[in-house]
Amino acid sequence: MSTLGAIRNIGIIAHIDAGKTTTTERILYYTGKSHRIGEVDDGEATMDWMVQEQERGITITAAVTTCYWKDKQINIIDTPGHVDFTAEVERSIRVLDGAVVIFAAVGGVEPQSETVWHQADHYRVPRLAYINKMDRIGADFFAVVEEMREKLAAKPLILTLPIGRESEFEGIVHLLSMREIRWNFEDFGATVVETDIDPSRMEEVQGFRQRLLDQLSSISDQNIADSLTGLYLEGSPIPDQLIRDAIRRGTLDRDFVPVMCGASLKNMGVQPLLDAIVDFLPAPDEVLPPVAFHTKKEKNVEIPIRVDAQPVGLVYKIQFDREAGPLSFVRMYSGVLRSGAAVYNVDKNKRERINRLLRMHSNRHESLEEIQAGDVAVVVGFKLAQTGDTIGSDQFPVMLEPMHFPEPVISVAIEPRTLSERSKLEAALNQLEREDPTFTVKENEETGQLIISGMGELHLDVLVTRVIEDFKVQARVGPPQVSYRESITRQAVHRERYHKVLAGKENIAEITLRVRPRERGQGNQFVSEVGPEVLPREVAEAVQRGVMGGLSAGISYGYPAIDVEVTLTGALYNPSTSTPMAFEAAGALGFDAACRKAGPVLLEPIMRVVVLVPKEYLGEVLGNLTTRKGDIVAIESKSAVESVHAHVPLATMFGYSTSLRSATQGRATFTMEFSHFAPRPDFSSTS
Ligand code: GDP
Ligand code: MG
Repeated sequence: MSTLGAIRNIGIIAHIDAGKTTTTERILYYTGKSHRIGEVDDGEATMDWMVQEQERGITITAAVTTCYWKDKQINIIDTPGHVDFTAEVERSIRVLDGAVVIFAAVGGVEPQSETVWHQADHYRVPRLAYINKMDRIGADFFAVVEEMREKLAAKPLILTLPIGRESEFEGIVHLLSMREIRWNFEDFGATVVETDIDPSRMEEVQGFRQRLLDQLSSISDQNIADSLTGLYLEGSPIPDQLIRDAIRRGTLDRDFVPVMCGASLKNMGVQPLLDAIVDFLPAPDEVLPPVAFHTKKEKNVEIPIRVDAQPVGLVYKIQFDREAGPLSFVRMYSGVLRSGAAVYNVDKNKRERINRLLRMHSNRHESLEEIQAGDVAVVVGFKLAQTGDTIGSDQFPVMLEPMHFPEPVISVAIEPRTLSERSKLEAALNQLEREDPTFTVKENEETGQLIISGMGELHLDVLVTRVIEDFKVQARVGPPQVSYRESITRQAVHRERYHKVLAGKENIAEITLRVRPRERGQGNQFVSEVGPEVLPREVAEAVQRGVMGGLSAGISYGYPAIDVEVTLTGALYNPSTSTPMAFEAAGALGFDAACRKAGPVLLEPIMRVVVLVPKEYLGEVLGNLTTRKGDIVAIESKSAVESVHAHVPLATMFGYSTSLRSATQGRATFTMEFSHFAPRPDFSSTS
């Protein structure tokens, strides 16, 4: 069992194709946990253990894999590279303490790296940067370092320099050990060969070392900065340990990002990266500031990051296993979880038993008796737990801040091949809905059709393939459709009187509702201005239920209403004839009538699209985006390509990849993610 200080929970985040899987494979090989290197290109990577991922050559699930390096336990929390899986990135970034960001030496900082970098900034994750593919034609280490400065506003701290580049790339110079490092090709780079720095390079290397020391002497930790400056002014040599302490401190305080380089495919650069992970990325109790927890009453409750405290953990992922049932990936912040014990799920207010605790390695798993504060493991046995739930003890019922997930914007109808498989299909979809908070399943009340919604075409594609292959349900899907929303554009007031005789009994309710638009993205809100002396609390709650039902049922088109403030401003209540049922119905009907007077609008999802295109095809790409009603936001020139940023309605983006490919002979690539909802012009205000 590792102590807190010996654990590193890290993520490896990268733009798709930068070499995350290739690098992870080397990490697992050199740390001795896998016996041969699985190559991505052969579809044999051990980390990408879902068949589907191997076929697509991309990593989708955020599984955790544990390995050991220099007496430290490294939990690698896998993060996906594709923006369709933002939710996966978001939830894994939350539970990791540090990250390695991989850039390709050719191509550098791609739009997706920017998105992920900013997410990591948001969660204050200390980072190392690894510039991979130094062997590729066009590799340019310093150009990528410059891009990190310009595009990411990062402060790079160069730790290693490449020796040669492209096919001449032969090794690195380490600016801490001041040694040259090369790798033995015969044993897949397992043997690291260190030599003195070649005199012909010495002057240049000294210059970089000096720059490194200068950067260190201005870190925000005043004690370390002062010691460094003192020695520097005296002209005394600076002890290696002080330099390492300064790098560690500065990395944790996010003063800078240490930058290293290599060519993972050629088995070069990975062991120094592992050294840097254990030396410079934080242990679980060094993360600043500690994660924010709250109770039902108090905000910002501090959690002792200690083993001898009440247990607190976060279920950050649920993954369905055909044999074991749901696997709950848990990050422990405090205390201990024991196999066989019951734990309290704070969000569900229920206790659940831990049947087994597992530690996942790349190609096997190991049963654990317990897991302690700071560690990540898998719980088998939870039936209720969902992604985002906090677990622990009812003695100390704290919860983590809820995770924020983007809205699903694309839907397809899904149906079983045979009617008899309908319940199997529903069960599979419900399981997937539990695993993935950006995936929703609904039944169309009129047609009885099942509608699934998600973040993008690829996202739904992957999930449908899982239904067919993992859950063995033969299902077919309709064409993708946009998930619209509805809202209102002005204030309106409506008085609703509801009267119905049911089983000879009067049911009367009278309420006044005011609806107002809220700013985009603020969500819906229900407020009651009517005191309990006028309307009993349970009756006011019935009105709220009715309004909430109205919000999800929509206004004119049946799409969920968003960003509406609903205020109950008046009510007439008569104990002998008024029933909660009548008030609930009045809430729903009154909401509908009020919104119809309030300039209802249909909102459509607008996507943030970035296209990378060689200059000669720029005209085609711009023309194509304009026909799709896109707004060109910016065009940036990079060395060989133009990067076009646009806002485009999702409705016009179906089939874009095919059309882009044929317009540019396959030379352009694009990324797309949800940006915001905007009124759809041709559907505006119906009243
Ligand atoms: P991921 O999408 O970030 O997981 O990237 P992969 O590890 O799947 O790598 C994408 C492609 O780049 C694969 O074809 C790899 O073989 C290749 N690749 C990865 N690292 C290197 C490298 O250091 N040099 C070269 N030349 N190719 C690499
Ligand atoms: Mg990969």
